[in-house]
Amino acid sequence: MKRLSLGIIGVGHLGEIHTRLAKQIDLVQLIGIYDTNLKRAEEISKKYEVSLFRSLEELLDKVEAVSIVVPTESHFEVAKLALEKNKHVFIEKPITSSSEQAEQLIKIAKEKRLKIQVGHIERFNPAFLALKAFELEPLFIEGHRLSKFNPRGTDVSVIFDLMIHDIDLVLQLVPYPIKSIDACGVKVVSESEDIANARIVFENGSVANLTASRISLKDMRKLRLFQRHSYISIDFLNKKTELFILKDGNNVPEGGIPFQIGPEDNRKEIVYFSPAGGDINPLKEELFLFAKAVLEDRKVPVDAEQGLKNLKVAEQIVEQLRHP
Ligand code: NAD
Repeated sequence: MKRLSLGIIGVGHLGEIHTRLAKQIDLVQLIGIYDTNLKRAEEISKKYEVSLFRSLEELLDKVEAVSIVVPTESHFEVAKLALEKNKHVFIEKPITSSSEQAEQLIKIAKEKRLKIQVGHIERFNPAFLALKAFELEPLFIEGHRLSKFNPRGTDVSVIFDLMIHDIDLVLQLVPYPIKSIDACGVKVVSESEDIANARIVFENGSVANLTASRISLKDMRKLRLFQRHSYISIDFLNKKTELFILKDGNNVPEGGIPFQIGPEDNRKEIVYFSPAGGDINPLKEELFLFAKAVLEDRKVPVDAEQGLKNLKVAEQIVEQLRHP
């Protein structure tokens, strides 16, 4: 079996998880890691019995692809170097700090026929995958992504760090152009917005109302979708999905639990579903799909163009809240 030779760049909080999971993927041959913090690199190298490279160039010379898990502000310089050295790139979200940088990466990758996948991980969350069999046409989306304070990630606004996940999902769920964005947000403890709300209105009339906070007392990652005759709740944190679908008559689809409502002469049924999305580790799944796409020369599941679209919306939101 052909395996993808991979290097991991940046082995902090998330890079450690990339390292642990990459070792478990048959399609991947983990060649080594690199981190500017040598002490951290040594710790991870020992813990996971993986080679440590003391220079980025040295690692790049030995691999076909890299996973870039450095802070967002360094995504561009690291990804650019990797692409220039003809390496396929998996890059954590958000793709880069600015859309101009993302455009440059896309240009290099196109010229060199290289793949870029962006780590929009919630697409692979079992709670989201569980909805594959259902028709989704949400008219109103309510999103809450709240987390307890942690200095990691505060180098960028909460929009780029947390809300970007929901922006990606919403753009998948509502495939129409954006008509308008209204946003507000404030800096509470760090030098960029820690809590924010954005109301995105689409050309088809759908509305997404997203709240993201990194200064909450409790963690929550939820999307609630309202569409004609259905209410859908997606709990990304607890990996639980619930659907309530209004039906006429007695035609209850398989797996649904009916509740009758309304008077006898105009009886309706609400059918409850809680579909399971499978026992999937989202990060392992996205790395596996990246390796498969490179080895089989197929499209990656979340490409750089999508990463750029998400980032452009995030930039519009930040612009709105800084210059209302
Ligand atoms: P972190 O600060 O814990 O780790 C970053 C590591 O990169 C550190 O060990 C640092 O020494 C190293 N580093 C910095 N600059 C480097 C460079 N130029 N070359 C090599 N190593 C370098 O940060 P983190 O929380 O692991 O976040 C890393 C990235 O992952 C960020 O882009 C973040 O947005 C993303 N992230 C994504 C998710 C997700 O849900 N997909 C979750 C957390 C973080």
